[in-house]
Amino acid sequence: MITSAMGSATDWTEVRDDFPILSSVNARGQRLVYLDSAASSQKPISVIEALDRYYRETNANIHRGVYDLSERATAQYEAARATVADFINAASPREVIFVRNATEAINLVAQSWGRRNIGAGDLIVVTTMDHHSNIVPWQLLAEERGARVAAVRLTPDGQLDLDHYRGLLAEQPKLVAFPHVSNGLGTINPAAEMIRLTHDAGAVVMLDGAQSVPHMPVDVQALDADFLAFSGHKMLGPMGSGALYGKRALLEAMPPALGGGGMIRKVTLEQSTWADVPARFEAGTPAVADAVGLGAAIEYLQAVGMEHIAAHERALTARALEALREVPDLTIYGPADPAVHAGVISFTLGDIHPHDVAAILNEENVAVRAGHHCCQPLMQWLGVPATTRASFYLYNVDEDIDRLLSALHRARAIFAA
Ligand code: PMP
Repeated sequence: MITSAMGSATDWTEVRDDFPILSSVNARGQRLVYLDSAASSQKPISVIEALDRYYRETNANIHRGVYDLSERATAQYEAARATVADFINAASPREVIFVRNATEAINLVAQSWGRRNIGAGDLIVVTTMDHHSNIVPWQLLAEERGARVAAVRLTPDGQLDLDHYRGLLAEQPKLVAFPHVSNGLGTINPAAEMIRLTHDAGAVVMLDGAQSVPHMPVDVQALDADFLAFSGHKMLGPMGSGALYGKRALLEAMPPALGGGGMIRKVTLEQSTWADVPARFEAGTPAVADAVGLGAAIEYLQAVGMEHIAAHERALTARALEALREVPDLTIYGPADPAVHAGVISFTLGDIHPHDVAAILNEENVAVRAGHHCCQPLMQWLGVPATTRASFYLYNVDEDIDRLLSALHRARAIFAA
């Protein structure tokens, strides 16, 4: 198991060996090639053991107990918060709210910040490449408040059209929501530049980091992000773990989104007052073990090194893009330039339905996703109902790309027959 920052000579097959599920084989003895990390990542032994250890040794409700176990559980939960804060370079752990996933994080901002700050006629900007979870919460809010939503257009190779974006900023939106990395195209958006432009226009930024935080160093202070949402389950952590980062001044001015235990200062039958952040946004008993597991996941990622992981994924992606271009009839969506194409490759293979492609890959024990990837507006823009998507993470190796290619050739052969 990895215990310290590794040099450039990392043996990535050793990394893969830390993930028990990746040594599983199908009935034909073929090892699992997992290329669906954009949907959810696999978990290393250290995370599985952290969960097991928590339930064996520590489990209790937090914050309210005056006995040892509860105090230990509280300490571990808050230590995990500090680990998350350190990982994204938040100024304080108080700026980190534990949620179930990126979707919940974005909805929290829409329901709390949004209801307080968005009014009739206000403009909210999203993008054509956003995941539904960074579109629908803003549509719900806009409908309730009488606001409007506009979307940034894309360039032909699947990048945000920054001229169109500047035009929308001239209309003085209140909030701009965009993905740091697109889960449908793999596009890496110029987040720092966009945030600077957005702030110059006086708007607040909701950065969807679901596909960036797991894969590259993300520094909220360097980016000057107002809000950042991400999912723990996509970054080696447990299902049901995730976080919202918000600048402290913004969070402190926000009302609770959910009411209940843990988020109050004082309750009378007439009225209540709220706890400080982050407790104000964590009503009810939180997923303590999952937060602890997310902390263990981040420790694993940090031990390998985020720069190192990003470089590994860049190399895999560049190699895969090059090899896939040689497959006849295969169309790759998203930027041709590997420098702005993260480890998410969306493609179609001739007129074979993307689900059929994925089903044949599955017969070869190559796990990819097919569908609209919760990006229906993007699919409409691409003019396809669905794509097949292969996505990489630190546990993927060159051999996985070879397996993907040979399975794609098999799919072609089957459909040509
Ligand atoms: N945004 C992006 C860019 C995503 O890729 C995803 C997950 N596919 C989400 C948001 C939503 O993540 P979750 O389902 O964990 O809430």
